[in-house]
Amino acid sequence: MLEIPESKVMSLQIEDVLAGKRIAKVNPASSPHKFAWYNGDPAEYDKLLSGKQILSSRGHGMFVDICCENNIFIIAGDGTNIRYYPSPEECPEKFQLQIVFDDNSCIAFTVAMYGGIWACKNELDNSYYQGSLHSISPLDDAFNESVFEKIFQSTTKDLSMKALLATEQRIPGLGNGTLQDILFNGGIHPKRKKSTLSDFEKGELFHSLKVILNSMTENGGRDTEKDLFGVNGKYKTILSKNTVNKPCPNCGSNIVKEAYLGGAIYYCPVCQKI
Ligand SMILES: [Zn+2]
Repeated sequence: MLEIPESKVMSLQIEDVLAGKRIAKVNPASSPHKFAWYNGDPAEYDKLLSGKQILSSRGHGMFVDICCENNIFIIAGDGTNIRYYPSPEECPEKFQLQIVFDDNSCIAFTVAMYGGIWACKNELDNSYYQGSLHSISPLDDAFNESVFEKIFQSTTKDLSMKALLATEQRIPGLGNGTLQDILFNGGIHPKRKKSTLSDFEKGELFHSLKVILNSMTENGGRDTEKDLFGVNGKYKTILSKNTVNKPCPNCGSNIVKEAYLGGAIYYCPVCQKI
């Protein structure tokens, strides 16, 4: 799933590989998917995109934008995979959208459970997208302790840390995946209520959020996710499906997996007290 580190890594790779290429043809889904979302009829994407040159790419929140000339954008959202192939012959037969370039290389978009693949002129009309595009990324220096404090004060409810940090898109692109190591590194249990955090713990958590997201990005994403070339990221997750029931690196206790708020949480029962 695309979260802050992966959308950033993916956009850097896309810009590196695709900038300057011109779109030759857009092929709609070879394999229809019930939960692949488009804007309008994807069979019409070819008309909008063919002949357009790729200028750049940007990753924000859980979105990757491929920016073409004339203010035209191709956008992939959380749950959509993007892969690059040197030729269409190397591309798997099943995809939910394929874009072939003038040098015969291509990218394919595939959706696992659900995901959006949009093409549009100007800004996509989608509130999650716009919220993400115009928010301050935790990867930027402008995301400082006072921005973090505002998130704590944005709701009067005594939410748990998972609910506060990784639901409602208060921090676009910080999802249930990246959250786990941020909380572990801050020594905070995902169910811990925000009212119980001391100022010191908040400071530690802020520091952890910055350090972990930067480390995930610098290492090409998490080892549970794949990049533009289908290669797993090199950030070794401490808490993920890869490490459940394995010993905690700090204390040796077994890492626990539990269902909570529509998704699995992982934690060390010793290092992360409620
Ligand atoms: Zn531990």
